[in-house]
Amino acid sequence: MKKTKVIVAGAGPVGTVAAYYLARAGIEVVLLEAGVDCAMDLRASTLHPPTLEMLDTLGITPTLLERGLKAPVYQFRDRGSGDVYAFDMSELADITRYPFRVQCEQYHLSRLLASKLEAEPNAAVYFNHRLVHFEQDDDGVTVTAETPVSLERFRADYLIGADGASSLVRKWLGIEFDGFTYPEKFLCLTTETPLEQYIDGLCHVNYVSDAKEWLVLLRVPSLWRILVPAGDASDETLVSDEKKNAVFGGLIGLTDEVKTHHRTIYRVHQRVAKTFRVNRVMIIGDAAHLNNPIGGFGMNSGIHDAFNLCAKLVEAYRNGAEGGGGAEALLARFDRQRRTVTHDFTQAQTIKNMEFMKEGQAAGHRKRHAEMQRMTEDPVARRQYLITQSMFGSLRQEAEIQ
Ligand SMILES: Cc1cc2nc3c(=O)[nH]c(=O)nc-3n(C[C@H](O)[C@H](O)[C@H](O)COP(=O)(O)OP(=O)(O)OC[C@H]3O[C@@H](n4cnc5c(N)ncnc54)[C@H](O)[C@@H]3O)c2cc1C
Repeated sequence: MKKTKVIVAGAGPVGTVAAYYLARAGIEVVLLEAGVDCAMDLRASTLHPPTLEMLDTLGITPTLLERGLKAPVYQFRDRGSGDVYAFDMSELADITRYPFRVQCEQYHLSRLLASKLEAEPNAAVYFNHRLVHFEQDDDGVTVTAETPVSLERFRADYLIGADGASSLVRKWLGIEFDGFTYPEKFLCLTTETPLEQYIDGLCHVNYVSDAKEWLVLLRVPSLWRILVPAGDASDETLVSDEKKNAVFGGLIGLTDEVKTHHRTIYRVHQRVAKTFRVNRVMIIGDAAHLNNPIGGFGMNSGIHDAFNLCAKLVEAYRNGAEGGGGAEALLARFDRQRRTVTHDFTQAQTIKNMEFMKEGQAAGHRKRHAEMQRMTEDPVARRQYLITQSMFGSLRQEAEIQ
């Protein structure tokens, strides 16, 4: 049986951040990943300023800036009227050295960290190792991982479940995952077609409301990503050329000329685990909470979980309190802090953001525009909005929770 201090299950962006944080702090860590490598999926693409500040403490941000695109401005647009409401994060330059979002696909972060972990003397990364079972007792946790040819056992003081939305760690702990699933499906298309040449003044992050179909248009370094609500049509219909042509025809007047790289269908959930911790086992990231992608908070809030938890584990080890009451108090605070901001900020804000997009289609249309107009014209309201949407507000709240 291999022994270590902390086992992290899942090498997505959240698990790799947690493992690298611990390794850099001198704590032995094993990272178990079910896949053959960090998944190269096209989900998160936005890194908010506080996340960039956190990752900078691990020396990662300069590489993300090189690989990603700086997006200081994001826009709310109305396709029908042509109205554009722009929010410029440069206005936050007095509180952050990163007054912009960075648009960069999430696999850049997880792959970069996994490769750096391989070079850390305190860390071991095991791909093709799916956590299938664990047991905890007063002194630690014993984890069983399945490889293509065997079952392997690991023993550690703590286990962190960063194993995504279907988290086996959360399921083994029997933690309820309350919330709801949006009835409609969502379709994400990617293309190299330069949308900015067809839509005036487009920036890298654009939320577009429309009487028939709202859209999110996001630029990542190599592609444009278009996210649209897709009703309950069959998957076959949604990935068809007909659907693709309808989306691009409505958007830029082009159909067959537009080639796509991906046509991915998502189900979107709003769910929060009843607790983020049971004794020596913690869950973070999508394992602990899920939200819709409007605003780009899912991965960012997972990274904030990882920083909060790992800082407390490091403190517990430094105090020599890993087995005793010191760790207990610290880990209980992690659960309180992160669960509270998940409910009060991430869930509340993403639900509001989604309603905001949908309101563009119905009675709330005029109200929505009036509110946007007021926010763009009122410097105090605008600044508050920028602080909230860039996630500084949630971290301020977290710090106040004892
Ligand atoms: C369309 C879309 C757009 C999004 N855009 C944004 C955005 O712009 N900004 C943002 O912040 N968030 C965004 N999100 C959310 C974001 O993608 C997730 O919140 C983020 O990927 C969560 O990271 P994670 O590491 O917790 O989980 P995951 O990325 O799901 O990683 C979990 C890892 O665990 C591994 N694993 C699973 N089970 C096991 C096991 N039993 N043993 C070992 N390994 C296991 C998996 O293989 C995987 O590698 C978006 C989501 C969607 C669907």
